[in-house]
Amino acid sequence: MKRLINTVKDHSGFYIADEEEIRAGKASDVYFSRSMKGLSHDQEVVAEITSSSEEEWITFSGLKEVLSLLKPRNLTISALEEGEIIGTRDSGGIPVPFITIEGKYSEIGEMETAILGLICQSSGISTASSRVYMASYPAPFYSFGIRRMHPAISPMIDRAAYIGGAYGVSGILGAERISMDPVGTMPHSMALLMGEEAAWKYIAENFPKGKRTILIDTFSDEKESALRAARMFPGIDYIRLDTPRSRRGNFPNIVREIRWELNLRGFSNIKIMVSGGLDYESVSKLREAGAESFGVGTYISSAKSIDFSMDIVSINGTAITKKGKYSGKKDVSRCNKCHKVKVKPSELHIEKCECGGKLELLNRKVYESGKEVINPKSDSDIRAKVTERLNSMIIAGKLKN
Ligand SMILES: [Zn+2]
Repeated sequence: MKRLINTVKDHSGFYIADEEEIRAGKASDVYFSRSMKGLSHDQEVVAEITSSSEEEWITFSGLKEVLSLLKPRNLTISALEEGEIIGTRDSGGIPVPFITIEGKYSEIGEMETAILGLICQSSGISTASSRVYMASYPAPFYSFGIRRMHPAISPMIDRAAYIGGAYGVSGILGAERISMDPVGTMPHSMALLMGEEAAWKYIAENFPKGKRTILIDTFSDEKESALRAARMFPGIDYIRLDTPRSRRGNFPNIVREIRWELNLRGFSNIKIMVSGGLDYESVSKLREAGAESFGVGTYISSAKSIDFSMDIVSINGTAITKKGKYSGKKDVSRCNKCHKVKVKPSELHIEKCECGGKLELLNRKVYESGKEVINPKSDSDIRAKVTERLNSMIIAGKLKN
């Protein structure tokens, strides 16, 4: 213990790993490099990433960073597309391989920790964002939660939230990385520093049409402030409520009451935006009450990560794995008719589902011996695919009810 304390250097910077350290395997658990030292020779393996998550479905993301990490290595990689919405097991209960990596164990093992970290957290955030999308539909919602997490990962959080369905993000760098303008309204501090009505006036007169959102609950009752703001600035687009928990009582009923009073007085054009501690359930209730835009923070940004793990499923061409896992390289496909997902050994060539539909391959090859073989999709294209799928899930859900 004494020796350790003497050798610890004072670290005055941020406690983050930079890209170089991650790529060099320094942000990895030590047991891989220790076990590598014990191996007499390198071997060709197939490693597979599956999930033990019990969620009915997840929105898979983070693959782009995994591919960037593995790019310099001589590996063959197949994977589900980012933005794939899928259960973690197929229709027969077999775990879905999200990523399959083939190559020398020495090229793969030391990267396991980083690979998993990149997809576990991102997929957790995308999944939470997709849930909020379904709850708020057709009203928009925005990712406002980077302040709850380490600033070093704010672009990753905002990208994952956007892919999952968020209409925009508040982070400047996050928005820049997904080629969008950041979204923001006005902070309470503006009302405190300028005076509430002067702050409203500034927004109403200086912001473009469609982006005039004023925060109405800094000092007074929400209904009184909403009506005062509407009378003073009838051209504003949104009033925003960020009511503290201690004043909420029944938040949906506050929204209902404001909507009623605004409509009665001819301000049906002014929409209500809500933020502050929202999750998908509260978003759903507030939307029913008349809110038409949402700022969602912690529920998305610090979403529970999805448990993925990586296992060897084949060594030098022979199927082998640990107990609890399924050996051999696998294909994942979805039937174009009944939409069931099937996992099968890669060497079995089955093209038809038992329903007669065609099985379409989901885990397509993205890298072949270190060379990119598929053009990556843009983040907005990935999001478009996600929202299309979520829309069809919403419609299917509505039909059932
Ligand atoms: Zn089928």
